[in-house]
Parts: sequence; structure tokens; C-alpha cells
Amino acid sequence: MSVDSEAAEAVAELLSRCTGRGIAIEQALAGEPQFEGPASGGLLARGGPLAVVGYLLAGEEAEGPLRQAREGLWHLGQLWAGVGALAVRAIEEEDWATAWRQHFHVTRVGRRCVIVPTWRDHTPAPEEVVIALDPGLAFGTGQHPSTRLCLRGLEDYTLPSMEALDLGTGSGILAIAAAQLGARRVLALDTDPVAVRAARENAARNGLAEAISVQQGSLELAPAGSFHLAVANLTAQALLDLARPLLGALRPGGIAIVSGFLEERQPEVATALKQAGGNVRAALAEEGWCALVVRRRGDRP
Ligand code: SAH
Repeated sequence: MSVDSEAAEAVAELLSRCTGRGIAIEQALAGEPQFEGPASGGLLARGGPLAVVGYLLAGEEAEGPLRQAREGLWHLGQLWAGVGALAVRAIEEEDWATAWRQHFHVTRVGRRCVIVPTWRDHTPAPEEVVIALDPGLAFGTGQHPSTRLCLRGLEDYTLPSMEALDLGTGSGILAIAAAQLGARRVLALDTDPVAVRAARENAARNGLAEAISVQQGSLELAPAGSFHLAVANLTAQALLDLARPLLGALRPGGIAIVSGFLEERQPEVATALKQAGGNVRAALAEEGWCALVVRRRGDRP
């Protein structure tokens, strides 16, 4: 495990506590830091090859969280040499709305999935699975390698009439893909209310409001033993913590596709999933990010 990815998770945990919302860990960008979403205030901590990005509403109420973030980063900097200083920038909401949208194009992922931002036109070919999306402030544009790996896994493992679970749905992108690929019903969970709202809107946009149930919460809302397929694009630490209940939500023989961790954490995540009752069927990688396809031991569902 490299110090940088370990530090990035600790920094993400800190920023998520300070901002009270989801955090993105990104490959560091050359030159000036950039932000990947619309917001009226931003926080960016950079260290080693990774950038940890979080957003706060600008104004007086941001002062407390910023102080907390600075202090926390100072402490983490004592533990890990790779933790950079906090970079704070004010971002105009309107500027963001246009700035990031300009970079979000119609994107093909895997063999059949095409992500179409709601502000772009696309005439789909017959075999294409279209995911119409406005991620808003939620994570999940399909531009991140971990999301793309999960989409590839879903293409391989989604079968008609499956009951599917999307843990940490963000914009709803993976839940929508699972439903478009044939899953009968999808339970999409996220602890972040911003994500829940975005995912509901995106499900409706794709005509899938009935097929996808978006709920605020985590695995406590997923009945044990009931899913043929689960996808969870979280972090290494979250997967280590949730391996047992995640595999427990699957029917025996069910498949979990997990991602959101870097290559050096893969052995650890694989071991946790094995100990939780799974067999690793496949490992996918892109730009240093990994996904594992794990089958819950037992008879076919
Ligand atoms: N599925 C999307 C978004 C992944 S980002 C994609 O693949 O692009 C991870 C999401 O998981 C965030 O929206 C975050 O709020 C949510 N999350 C993190 N920990 C969670 C947990 N324990 N239970 C449910 N959601 C969680």
C-alpha cells in the first residue's frame, strides 16, 4: 500500500467530515488544480499523485469547517509526508455550471453504454445503452476510471430480471446502467441526500423511476440474501468495513462488482471479500484503479 493512497483516504475522511458531503479522490492534475463539478465553494487538498476534492457553500458558515480541515490536515501531515496543504478557492456557481459542462461530452464506456449529458444531443445506435445524466453535485459522471470499470462489469454480469443493488449510487449512473441492461429492479442507496436527489432525478430522466428505488441510507436498507447482483463503487476502507453485509445482501451465487480503490489495495480488499464468503472471479484495472468481480459462494441464485 503506498503512503499516498493511504494518506488520500485519511484526507478524504477528514474533508468529508468537515464538508458533510461526498469527496472525490482524483488522479492529480498537472499544473493548476481544477474542480470537477458545479459548486459555490471548493476545498482541495493535494498530495503525491492524488488530489482530494470537496465542496462547501461559501460564506461565514464555511469558516468553521475550513479551520477544522486545516487543523486536521496539519495533523495528518505529521503522520504522512505526502499530505499537501489545503487549497481553497471560491467558485461562482454560474461559472461552474458552464465550465464543467463544457468538459462533459457524450462518452462511450465498455461495449454498449453511452453516457449522454442532458445538455447534449445524441442519436443512439440500436445496440447502445443510453444513460442520460445530469450529475449535479453528486459523484458519478462516468469520467472516473472506477465508474467505468463498474460499467464494464455491469455489461458482463447483468442479466434480464435480476434484482440489483447499487451501494453508493451518487448520480445514479450505475443503477441506471443496470436497469438499462435488463435488471428488473434496482435498489440504489446513498448516505448523501444530495446524491439521493440527483439519482432520483436521473432515474426519472431515463424513464426508470419505477424500476429504480433510490433511498437515503446504506446496507441496513438492503434485505439480506435478496440480490442477484450488487455494485459498490466506494473506497478501500468502506469495502473492508462493508464486505460482510455487502456479500450478505447477495443471494448465494450472486455477484458483487466493487471498485473505488487503487491497485495496491486490491489484495487487501480481495482478502476481505473472500473472508466474507466470496470467490474472486475477475479483476479489472484502468489507470491504476481497480475493480473486483466477486461471487458469493453457494448455489446459483
Ligand atoms: N456509483 C457512482 C458514485 C460513486 S461515489 C459511480 O460509480 O460513479 C461513492 C458514493 O457512495 C458517494 O455518493 C457517497 O455519498 C456514497 N457512500 C459512501 N459511503 C457509503 C455508504 N457506506 N453507504 C452508502 N453510500 C455511501
